[in-house]
Amino acid sequence: LGRHGDDQRSNGFEYNGVRFSQDNLHVFAGLCAVDTHEHVEQMLRALQENGQVCTRMGAYKPRTSPYAFQGHGKSCLPWVFDLAGKYGIRVIAMEILHESHMDEIREALEKTGHPTGVMLQIGTRNTQNFELLKAVGRQQTLPVLLKRGFGITLEESLNAAEYLASEGNTKVVFGLRGMKSNLGDPHRNFVDFAQVPAVKRLTRMPVCIDPSHSVGSRDVGPDGIMDVFHVTAQGVVAGANMILVDFHPDPATALVDGPQALLLKELPWFLEDV
Ligand code: PEP
Repeated sequence: LGRHGDDQRSNGFEYNGVRFSQDNLHVFAGLCAVDTHEHVEQMLRALQENGQVCTRMGAYKPRTSPYAFQGHGKSCLPWVFDLAGKYGIRVIAMEILHESHMDEIREALEKTGHPTGVMLQIGTRNTQNFELLKAVGRQQTLPVLLKRGFGITLEESLNAAEYLASEGNTKVVFGLRGMKSNLGDPHRNFVDFAQVPAVKRLTRMPVCIDPSHSVGSRDVGPDGIMDVFHVTAQGVVAGANMILVDFHPDPATALVDGPQALLLKELPWFLEDV
């Protein structure tokens, strides 16, 4: 990935008709967690109406509490992929927590018959799950979004990305999603988008930002603009290549992270702003 003496620049990789590189930008707006068929369909229809071919959809959710909703898992994959196909979605960013989830996704994709693909997301809690990284790196069909660890150095997170590459998968996007801090940050996490150019300088990876998990709320500034919009703008100006952002047709009923989800009517504004 450009870390070990190989400074050859790259123009990224293509997956399912979508090119990911350090020179372009894709928005992955979608549901943090798949809940109802109706909500998924409303989300995907809105994306199609706004010319989008990428989304985020969580089937397996890493929750702080074991009593919280853990995601529908394998059971929702067939209908989520069918709906994605129906609305022309080419790439879904979907987190996996275990090697078996990757197999479940690949099996369900093979069965759908639609040209929809998945970018495997490895979340901040698994950034240093080295056995998972090696297993995901061994398969080279599906690209990977690796999020930085929220409590480790950038260097350590970049090395985690190398675990994927060292096993053969170089289709890796690196995700910034904010850091844990005890400094009384007004946001859920300390926003780290100033590191976009640093990651691009140090590696060949396209860089993703996740304003939703960084800010963690729909808080609005004195200018009447949501902090999510502001930090997204900062990340884009800094050179981000991908934006993972939570939307929901009815945030009050969302099973995960409703308070940070944007409304579907805000999607065109968000895209225009980007
Ligand atoms: C997510 O994107 O749904 C998520 C849980 O993100 P993170 O791993 O950054 O917390």
